[in-house]
Amino acid sequence: MIKAIIFDMDDTLYKEYDFVFGGFKAVSLYLSEKYKLSENDVYKKILDIFYREGRGKIFNRIIDIYNLKEDINNLIDKYRFYKPKIELYDDAEEVLNWCKENNIKTGIITDGMSAVQWSKIKALKLEEKVDKIIVTDDFGREFWKPHTRAYKEMIKYFGIDGEEAIYVGDNPNKDFIGAKKLHYNTVRIIREEGDHMNTKSSEDHGVDKMIKSLRALTKEKETSDEKIYYGVDRK
Ligand SMILES: [Mg+2]
Repeated sequence: MIKAIIFDMDDTLYKEYDFVFGGFKAVSLYLSEKYKLSENDVYKKILDIFYREGRGKIFNRIIDIYNLKEDINNLIDKYRFYKPKIELYDDAEEVLNWCKENNIKTGIITDGMSAVQWSKIKALKLEEKVDKIIVTDDFGREFWKPHTRAYKEMIKYFGIDGEEAIYVGDNPNKDFIGAKKLHYNTVRIIREEGDHMNTKSSEDHGVDKMIKSLRALTKEKETSDEKIYYGVDRK
């Protein structure tokens, strides 16, 4: 019997690109005001680099392109600490309500810099919507997933066994390994957008089931396609 569903946050409960692009906008605004540049031009250039080269070196490249005397740490701070305008995915909102109605506890285990993750949590109003939130960075960098500590503390908090919990996440490289060590059921959400939608998952990633919408969590055990639906026993 499932007593709790624990979620990853980024790209599981909301679209992380909304946060990322909002950060790019904050940096564009800052640079445009400081150096009298066109905000739109800066933003377009950032997006261009993002789509060609990924997230790693964007701000270094922008400093080079405009030949700015700018401390890159300022840009990283502007990116991280703007006030995010992000929203839960509809199916996330629905499944959290469904859990409440069906007496299933809810939790979040999320990696990432603590202050940034908490700013997203506040923006998404998750403290009102889930029973227990763990930002692994609050324990220290070495306790980020796939470390088992957060998974262990979560079930301890609810007084349940791993078998009575499901962990839902999007990143097979780290979301399910620690969860499996504690015998959680594991569900991978594959959304249409996100960094990990094309990551292949293999057995050693610890993925039990794959779903395309969190709504599948609310369905009775499906017969047609075991891979897609994961039923939660309501009794
Ligand atoms: Mg994620």
